[in-house]
Amino acid sequence: MILSKRDYYEILGVNRNASETEIKKAYRRLAIQYHPDKNPGDKTAEDKFKELSEAYAVLSDSQKRATYDQFGHAGVNGGGGFSGGGFDFGGAPFEDIFGDIFGDIFGGGSRRGSRGQRGDDLRYNLTISFEEAAFGTEKKLQLPRKQNCETCHGSGARPGTDAQTCSTCRGAGQVRYQQGFFTMTRPCPDCRGEGKIIKDPCPDCRGTGQVRKKRSLSLRVPAGVENGTRLKLNGEGEAGSQGGPPGDLYVVISVEEHPIFQRDGQNVICEIPISFVQATLGCDLEVPTLEGKVNMKVPAGTQSGKVLKLSGKGIVSLQGYGRGDQLVVLKVEVPTKLNSRQRELLEEFARESGEDIHPQGKGFFDKVKELFD
Ligand SMILES: [Zn+2]
Ligand SMILES: [Zn+2]
Repeated sequence: MILSKRDYYEILGVNRNASETEIKKAYRRLAIQYHPDKNPGDKTAEDKFKELSEAYAVLSDSQKRATYDQFGHAGVNGGGGFSGGGFDFGGAPFEDIFGDIFGDIFGGGSRRGSRGQRGDDLRYNLTISFEEAAFGTEKKLQLPRKQNCETCHGSGARPGTDAQTCSTCRGAGQVRYQQGFFTMTRPCPDCRGEGKIIKDPCPDCRGTGQVRKKRSLSLRVPAGVENGTRLKLNGEGEAGSQGGPPGDLYVVISVEEHPIFQRDGQNVICEIPISFVQATLGCDLEVPTLEGKVNMKVPAGTQSGKVLKLSGKGIVSLQGYGRGDQLVVLKVEVPTKLNSRQRELLEEFARESGEDIHPQGKGFFDKVKELFD
């Protein structure tokens, strides 16, 4: 397993504002070089090839690329599970790339030719709490989705009747026409490319073959997801038509803000105000963490802005290894209201301390003196 992933742009050897064509060209060139068929038994070439395919799968998809640009690998990779269906993180659909590019280079392309149309992808925006993102959660999703009509089994024709073959295109779905020296084809205007005409439509789906139904899915959101993480549920999008495969469902995660915690990658940041007396004398502080309160020692002479680390109290990695820390930022507060007794005490304190009251300031004003005197 590769623990630290290389930058996708670096893998393809293109810069960050490379065009789609440049990315495709770069991928094509490198993929031919490292293709397993050309390097039989070479493990390094095989790994390179996989790495390339993954980088290309992300950068060639404008939506994935935008997510990657914004969130890096965490935005497009990870681990997780989904009950009842294939599940991946929008990483490399390996066969897709293979069919897409190698179809024409290596003379494959047998994947084409099916008449059915793939269903549309669906997007579902899911808002979860800060804690749910940190620890993972199980969510029930209700989503309306086009499904094949049960009455006509997706044919669109009234049960007991059949769709008729279109006479204009003789079922081909395409018609030929002459343009200059060339014979071109376009979708048949009478059957709109379907190849069939329904004379007696199914009453339940009005001939479309599909109906919209509310479905509930249960989704396991893995621990460590971030704002903008996209979970891909293979085959959970709209149903395909005429036996085509279903689309995919993309669940886009929004994480709610937390009243006291902020997130920086896998670290949790928490800012805690302390009094100048606590900072000066040191104190025991009760610190909230994602899993309840812990005690922390603030050393005497703590300056404002000091960061103390609670190891392993952060967020687990989406990839499933390691966990971040909690960073406690101490903000020293200066009192804004003093009664006369307090003022007296402080003035006495200042007299007693002389210049020692201000160790860092003394050094600073010495330098100012050197500059101007
Ligand atoms: Zn129907
Ligand atoms: Zn037709």
